[in-house]
Amino acid sequence: MMKIDVLTLFPEMFTGVFSQSILKKAADAGAVTYNPINFRQFSDNKHQTVDDYPYGGGAGMVLKPQPIFDAVKELTKADQQQVKPRVILLCPQGKRFDQQKAEELAKEEHLIFICGHYEGYDERIREHLITDEISIGDYVLTGGELGAMVIIDSVVRLLPGVLGNEESHQQDSFSTGYLEHPHYTRPADFRGMKVPDVLVSGNHRLIEEWRRKESLRRTYLRRPDLLEKVELTVEQQKWLDEFKKQQE
Ligand code: SAM
Repeated sequence: MMKIDVLTLFPEMFTGVFSQSILKKAADAGAVTYNPINFRQFSDNKHQTVDDYPYGGGAGMVLKPQPIFDAVKELTKADQQQVKPRVILLCPQGKRFDQQKAEELAKEEHLIFICGHYEGYDERIREHLITDEISIGDYVLTGGELGAMVIIDSVVRLLPGVLGNEESHQQDSFSTGYLEHPHYTRPADFRGMKVPDVLVSGNHRLIEEWRRKESLRRTYLRRPDLLEKVELTVEQQKWLDEFKKQQE
């Protein structure tokens, strides 16, 4: 079972997210436990402060190292020796999160997320405590909570047995290196807008081929950068040349 701890000043923000849909089902099925915890309770200061003014002056407050170091120490106390917890700092300066990272984290037993607030963290947290520094995109949020939720959601759905159909995440966009092909459902003719003939043909070989081709087309048109990381088959190269010609 995966254990997920979240160090935050706003643990209530996680209540809704952890009690709905797939994340709740995953916990009910025993695949994961969630523990959002207010790191203010680890402050050794009688006013329970967690932040202070930056050395050298300037705007904004900085999260002090003591409450966060002590919280991580406490949370890792019960770990077996062979378990190496991943201590993840949410930070716009971190490595940009992607599906590959989600797959890597889904193999772990214990994840600890540290959600920042205010101006940022004391640098010693970054230098001496964490294993990963992750950004969810090139924009600045008010705190790390939404970022932690994004990462947790994408990781938990990959845990074995969490999605009903084991295959359903293997074909997802990014898991294969390509964007996923388009989907259609009934009716075959919706107000004159028709489903591609091949999908109602019943010919599974042709349907698979159509899906591979449309997945490639979508990736080429929307995210050509992804194609630089994959090795194309002869068939795909032929399709790609065809798409390029269509654009001329
Ligand atoms: N002063 C910091 C800087 O320029 O890098 C930004 C601090 S931000 C206002 C407060 C907190 O929100 C950060 O410490 C981090 O935990 C979280 N945060 C903001 N943007 C984020 C992003 N793109 N990805 C992950 N966490 C983010």
